[in-house]
Amino acid sequence: MKTPNANRKHIVFYGKRNAGKSSIMNSLIGQEVSLVSDIKGTTTDTVSKAVELIPFGPVVFVDTGGIDDQGTLGELRIEKTKKTLESADFAIYVIDIEEIDHIEIELDQEFDKRNIPYIIVINKIDQVSKERLDIIKEKLGFRLKNKEILYTSVEVKSTIDDLRNKLIERLETLEIEDTLIGDIVPYNGKVIMVIPIDAEAPKGRLILPQVQLIRDCLDHGIKSYVVSDRELESAISDLKNIELVVTDSKIFKYVESMIPKDMNLTSFSIIMARQKGDLKELIEGIDQLKSLKNKDNPRILVMESCSHNTSHEDIGRVKIPKVINKTLGKEIEYHFAMGKDFPKNLKEYDLVIHCGSCMLNKKTMFNRIRLCKEAGVPITNYGMVLAYGAGILDRAVEIFI
Ligand code: SF4
Repeated sequence: MKTPNANRKHIVFYGKRNAGKSSIMNSLIGQEVSLVSDIKGTTTDTVSKAVELIPFGPVVFVDTGGIDDQGTLGELRIEKTKKTLESADFAIYVIDIEEIDHIEIELDQEFDKRNIPYIIVINKIDQVSKERLDIIKEKLGFRLKNKEILYTSVEVKSTIDDLRNKLIERLETLEIEDTLIGDIVPYNGKVIMVIPIDAEAPKGRLILPQVQLIRDCLDHGIKSYVVSDRELESAISDLKNIELVVTDSKIFKYVESMIPKDMNLTSFSIIMARQKGDLKELIEGIDQLKSLKNKDNPRILVMESCSHNTSHEDIGRVKIPKVINKTLGKEIEYHFAMGKDFPKNLKEYDLVIHCGSCMLNKKTMFNRIRLCKEAGVPITNYGMVLAYGAGILDRAVEIFI
């Protein structure tokens, strides 16, 4: 239950108001998570619940407001529902059986565009006779022949069990999140992680990418040595045959100066960027950054996925602009965005620089890169920029290329 949401498959329920999305989600989970009533539009906001879907593993179920909501507030709610498409790994599209005469899967193009697999669920089958249900099945089987359709009712437990089993089966065939370094460091290899304990380090704990990398090493039989920058020199002299040094991006330059020239070096954020996104695309973003030197009034959007207090050592607001201005030898106009929502006005920028995205699932980052591509705006991330600023980008990505 401690698995972060970023590492859980997001299963999202879509459909019109009163199709029975909330009831099905509650039945699958076995808890009254989402409010249910006969009144259209009871679910006005998205409702998420992290659960262990046995035997598949940790997932997040997300219930959404009706895709046919009305009025000004209704439109805002539809907008909110559509935002969940950016993080959905799997969709369940619920249709009330009484609505099948004008059946429409409003979001199917959106699912296809984002490569979101989905199941269509025809719900409330207890409200029609067996004969009518057989006719409906035959008709729909013909009309929606390439789609996976299930027939459910929360009053008929076996139909919910069938849905759960089908969901698990489909999730198991989904792409498995890539390992962080298990594919590049051999079993029994040694990795040194350098974590500065400075004003930015949270008291008494490590941050998610650091914890995830330690876990990835344990999962793949890689020996990890975790040191602060102060102890790096002595760690290097203690150990032989170090396969890789992974550092916090902020001290790239220092770490590079401390380790032998032929030792592999990268950063936590480059490792995360590779796992969550498209490393090639993010490297190309650095080419764009270089070209801004010759552009008049360039504008950069710095995007962080979590809101937090800023400080004099803040990486996004302070360090990144400083490094870029110094490296390019000019002042750039920076804009900052924080939180879950990815700005819509991407075309106004020459480049997007994204944080390490450790709290985002792979699908969300994949969609953000896609949105940038569609807007014709290159994207890169903190780790790349800091490695470039330190003059060691090629070295920092070499192990992955
Ligand atoms: S701002 Fe980005 S890198 Fe920092 S914790 Fe949030 S998702 Fe991770």
